[in-house]
Amino acid sequence: MKVLHVSTECYPAAKAGGLGDVVGALPRYLSAAGAPAGVAIPRYRLPWFDEHPFHTIYKGAVRLHNYYVPFTVQQDSSNALGFPLFVVDIPGKFDRPGIYADPGGYAYEDDVERYLSFQQAVLQWMLNSPGRPALLHCYDHHTGLIPFMLKHCPAYKALSWMPTVFTIHSGVYHGAFGWDKMYLLPAFEPEARGLLDWSNRINPLATAIKCAWRVTTVSPTYLKELQQRSNGLEPLLQHEQHKSLGILNGIDTQAWNPAADSYLAAPLGKDIAAFKQANKEALGRHFRLDMERPLVSFIGRLAAEKGADLIPGLVHRMMHSEAEVAFAALGAGEPGLENTFRQLSHQYPGRFAAALEYNEGLAHLLYAGSDFLLMPSRVEPCGLNQLYAMRYGAIPIVRSVGGLKDTVPDIGEPNDVGRGIRFEQFNLDDGAHALYRAVQLYHNPAIFEQVRRRIMQLDFSWEKAAAEYIEIYKEMGITTN
Ligand code: ADP
Repeated sequence: MKVLHVSTECYPAAKAGGLGDVVGALPRYLSAAGAPAGVAIPRYRLPWFDEHPFHTIYKGAVRLHNYYVPFTVQQDSSNALGFPLFVVDIPGKFDRPGIYADPGGYAYEDDVERYLSFQQAVLQWMLNSPGRPALLHCYDHHTGLIPFMLKHCPAYKALSWMPTVFTIHSGVYHGAFGWDKMYLLPAFEPEARGLLDWSNRINPLATAIKCAWRVTTVSPTYLKELQQRSNGLEPLLQHEQHKSLGILNGIDTQAWNPAADSYLAAPLGKDIAAFKQANKEALGRHFRLDMERPLVSFIGRLAAEKGADLIPGLVHRMMHSEAEVAFAALGAGEPGLENTFRQLSHQYPGRFAAALEYNEGLAHLLYAGSDFLLMPSRVEPCGLNQLYAMRYGAIPIVRSVGGLKDTVPDIGEPNDVGRGIRFEQFNLDDGAHALYRAVQLYHNPAIFEQVRRRIMQLDFSWEKAAAEYIEIYKEMGITTN
C-alpha cells in the first residue's frame, strides 16, 4: 500500500453522502493505475461492520489531556472492497449507530474528542507499522489536523517526512472549536500555534489548507468559488493557490451500472425507453404517483447547501400552473423541511411524494425511473447525483454552481453539447423557469430522447481523476508500479 486514505466515510461500509462514494471507489482505481491504496475509517456501530470479518492488526491508546483512549486497528479479512480497509475501533467514541448524528437527527456533541482520538490513533498506528504507506490522503475537517500533527507534534515527528494531500469534499463545515479546548490536543511546537488558528479559533479545515503538501477540491469550479466565498477562508485559499488543484470526481461504474443494478425494477437493455418506463412504473407504485406526467425527482440531504428549501415553493408554483408534472423526493435532514415535505405529499396526492429517509436502493431506482433530476444547490463541491442521473437517463435540472457547472452544459448551448437544464440565481423565478423548460423538453420527444441518449453514453469513470491524483502523488516523490 502506497497511499492511505483517511476519512470518516467509505461506501459500502459507512456512507452519509458523496464522500463515502469517493473514498469507496477512488482507491480501487488508484490501485489499478499503479498506486496501491487503502482506506482507514472509524469503526461505527453499523450493520456492514458486523456482517464482515475483521482481524486486529494494532492495539494502542491515545492521550486526550489527562486520560487515555484505548483503540484497535482492524483490517477487513474478506477484502470485500477490493482494497485494504482498516477500521479504527475506539470504544465510547465511534461505536454509535450514526456517522455524524444519531438516527434521530441529533448531532454528536463530542466531535472534538472523537476526531482528535481518530486522527491520533491513525498516526500512532503509522508510527508503529512497518508496512506504512508513503503518503496520507485526508478528507475534510475531520482529518484536517493530521498534516499539522505530522509536522509539528513531537510525538509524530518521526513521520514528518510523509507527504500529505488534503481533499476538500465539503468546505461548508470547518470543524472549528475554541482555544479553551486546546488542552485536548497532543503537545505541539509553540511556534506552530498560528497554524491552528483562524479567526481566534482552532480551525481544522484552515489548518489542513495551511499544512497539507497539496490541497485539492472535487471540481475546478468549486476551487474558484471557495477562493471567492468560503466563510472567511477566502484569503487563505487564494494564498495557497500554488498548491491547490480542482480534480473532478468520477463515478464507480461497477456500483452504478444500469445494465446490472440489482436495485432496479428492470435493467438497461437495448431499448432505453422501455428501461425508463419499467422503472418509472415501479416508482409510481412505490410512491403512489401518477406516472402519466414527467417525473422530476430530488435526492439528497435536506440541507441549505442542497437548496432543498427552494423545492416547496417550486412545487406550489408548478401545481398552480398549466405544467403537468409530478415530483418525488428522497432525503432526510432538517426536521422543519421534512415536515414541509410531509405536508406537500398530503396536499398534492398523486403529484408529490417524499421518502424522508436514507435509502440506497430507492436512490438507484429514482435515477433510473425519473425523467429529470432537480438539483437547486446553493453550494455543490462536485455533485455525484447529476452524474448518476445522466448514466441512468434522468436529465439533470441544476443551478449553475460548483461541479454542476463543470458537468452539465445547458441544452441551449450550440453544437449539441447540452446535457441538462441550468439556471443561474437561487430563486423561485429562475427555478420555475427551468422546470417549465423541462416540461417543454419532455413534450418534444425527438429532442428529449436525443439528450437522454447522449447523457447515458458519457464517460464519468474514475480513470481520469485517478490519473490526475497520481500525477500529484508523483510530484511529491511517490513512484508508481
Ligand atoms: P453530498 O454533498 O451529500 O456528499 P453528493 O452529490 O456528493 O452530495 O453525493 C450524494 C450521494 O448520497 C449520492 O450517492 C446520493 O445518491 C446519496 N444520497 C443522498 N441522500 C440520499 C438518501 N436520502 N438516500 C440514498 N442516497 C442518498
